[in-house]
Amino acid sequence: FRRLTQGLSRSSAKLTEGISAIFTKRKLDDEVLEELEELLIAADLGVKTSADLIKHLRKTRFGKDVTDQEVREVFAAEIARILEPVAKPLAIDPSRGPHVVLVVGVNGSGKTTTIGKLAQFYREQGLKVMLAAGDTFRAAAVEQLRIWGDRTGCPVIHRPEGADAAALAYDAIAEARAAGADLLLIDTAGRLHNKAQLMDELAKVLRVMQKIEPTAPHDTVLVLDATVGQNAHSQVEVFRNLVKVSGLVLTKLDGTAKGGVLVALAEKFGLPVHAIGVGEKAEDLRPFAAEKFAQSLLG
Ligand code: GDP
Repeated sequence: FRRLTQGLSRSSAKLTEGISAIFTKRKLDDEVLEELEELLIAADLGVKTSADLIKHLRKTRFGKDVTDQEVREVFAAEIARILEPVAKPLAIDPSRGPHVVLVVGVNGSGKTTTIGKLAQFYREQGLKVMLAAGDTFRAAAVEQLRIWGDRTGCPVIHRPEGADAAALAYDAIAEARAAGADLLLIDTAGRLHNKAQLMDELAKVLRVMQKIEPTAPHDTVLVLDATVGQNAHSQVEVFRNLVKVSGLVLTKLDGTAKGGVLVALAEKFGLPVHAIGVGEKAEDLRPFAAEKFAQSLLG
């Protein structure tokens, strides 16, 4: 918990200081509520979530003397309530032999790093994990994944630059099966500038993969960079139109005051949040815990 709060300290600083800057103790009137609402919106909680939080505060405290601490507690409790239903770890079922997870997201969002972190996490749990370098378009992405494979002791299935990503996914499942792997994490391309091409590529990956394993992928995890703020919403929309996104991982929550976007995403899409990234290292992945996150967001 301490490490989680440390990682998120910058997320919380802005909201907490913001609330205290508005007041420390005073009567909760329209003016204060308006300022608080602006603060929530500025912290990326989104217009709807912010309005809901203010509505709740108004209902329970309007006209009363309140302290900044009290307001923080009310917000934290409400945010925890919103986040509770989406806090769901990835449920890996090794009996699927292997459980196949397709990892999607825009380039730079932290896909490869997240795969490395997940590999480390599940290996520590005693699972046999394999990785597939499905972003065959970028030599650097393949190289990155190979480094993560070495670091975590997980085999990486890769092909030369420009190879067919769908064929690679097929081969990866075959190899993972043959090796008796429990979990196969497949990286994908994230070139959003050419959506039609990306759609074709992902559709083909799914089609070809399902020839060898009709139930795959068992999860499709969308990785989002929390520092992009409101842009995260459009990324969810785009990827939901390309693939059946089953859950999210939000990255870079260490280096931003944008943790609020997670709350807005939870309320808008209701997609499970499996984990959060709070750094660049293998151990910088945290299970997503609603109450802890809400508390750290509000300091
Ligand atoms: P990809 O293109 O989506 O595969 O993105 P990468 O995994 O290569 O990550 C892009 C950059 O973000 C790299 O420099 C990573 O080290 C960095 N990164 C990824 N996750 C996190 C995180 O949780 N926190 C921080 N601070 N950096 C991260």
